[in-house]
Amino acid sequence: MWRTIGQKSTVERLSKSVADSNTHHSYLFLGEPHTGKQTLAIELACALNCENIEEMPCRSCRSCTRILDGKHADLHRITLDESGVPEDVEVGEEVRRQRTRILTEQIEDLQRASMLPPYEGRFKVMLIENADRMTDAAANRILKVLEEPPPQVVWMLLAENEERLLQTVVSRCQRIDVHPMPPAQLERHLVDVCGAAPEQARLLSRISRGRVGWALQALEDESIIEQRISRVEGAIQLLSMTYAARFDFSREIDALYRRDRAAATDTLDQWTIWWRDLMLVKTGCAESVVNIDYVNDITEQAQRLSLEQIRDYIGKLSEARRDLDINVIPRLVFDSLVYTMPRITRPLASGIGLPVVPRNKGET
Ligand SMILES: [Zn+2]
Repeated sequence: MWRTIGQKSTVERLSKSVADSNTHHSYLFLGEPHTGKQTLAIELACALNCENIEEMPCRSCRSCTRILDGKHADLHRITLDESGVPEDVEVGEEVRRQRTRILTEQIEDLQRASMLPPYEGRFKVMLIENADRMTDAAANRILKVLEEPPPQVVWMLLAENEERLLQTVVSRCQRIDVHPMPPAQLERHLVDVCGAAPEQARLLSRISRGRVGWALQALEDESIIEQRISRVEGAIQLLSMTYAARFDFSREIDALYRRDRAAATDTLDQWTIWWRDLMLVKTGCAESVVNIDYVNDITEQAQRLSLEQIRDYIGKLSEARRDLDINVIPRLVFDSLVYTMPRITRPLASGIGLPVVPRNKGET
């Protein structure tokens, strides 16, 4: 039984293709982080190799359990581990390169493994997570591999950003879009199936932005929510910080980026969501904000900024993400972000805020 949540039509399509022995030789699962791409791919791998033809995947036969436990000999995967990159520049740069990009050698290893017949199942599954992080050479190598796939091999590429993939790679795969779940549906699931309290479910469905995997993890692990609070509070405080304090912040996030790229980009995502919330409040769509537990702060800041400032800064955040992708020096990107962020002074005790300080006339 498929346990993927919120992708009903996709599951029906995949399930039918397995039952009809009509699966594709390569799939591209596209979607935001934590939307369930990996869960769906693993379930497809189970279905392809399940020993229980009445219900593929049964999740309980030897083959399914070995795939779910990551022990099946015919499941090969490439995973990036970007955490814990040493800060030492000499050693760090090479290690970082290996951990932030999928290299040709890794694709070649998988290609060699794919040439051998399945060892214990019906299909060999070659799973590449973060496929949009292949080097150009690796992407060209996978292109060749997808041209002439050996029989009984299914390639599964997982990616967040289609623009970072070669279009020729995209066109050789069957594309599976994995969408976030509508918040109301996720909220019901968290209460009815996972036993979450209604208030907790409402908050998680909103701040997860419909990303099921994130919401389920946050339900289990309180530290995820604590981390999110600290990043949101950072976004709130930055607006009223002096430029000197902002540049200190830039140095910290640069160091974080070198240590743990995913954590640093998540921080940038939190900023983007915050600024999008400011835009929603500013344009009278407060009911759609993500950070529903910070509505008062969002409303207060939105009153002190113009729509143009908010819109411009959202543009800067999206440019920053692109610059980081094309390897612009991270410190320059972060410095520019903290410098160009509009600055508002702290509200007065009476609740009457000071006007926005023009960007270039700010203090130190
Ligand atoms: Zn099974």
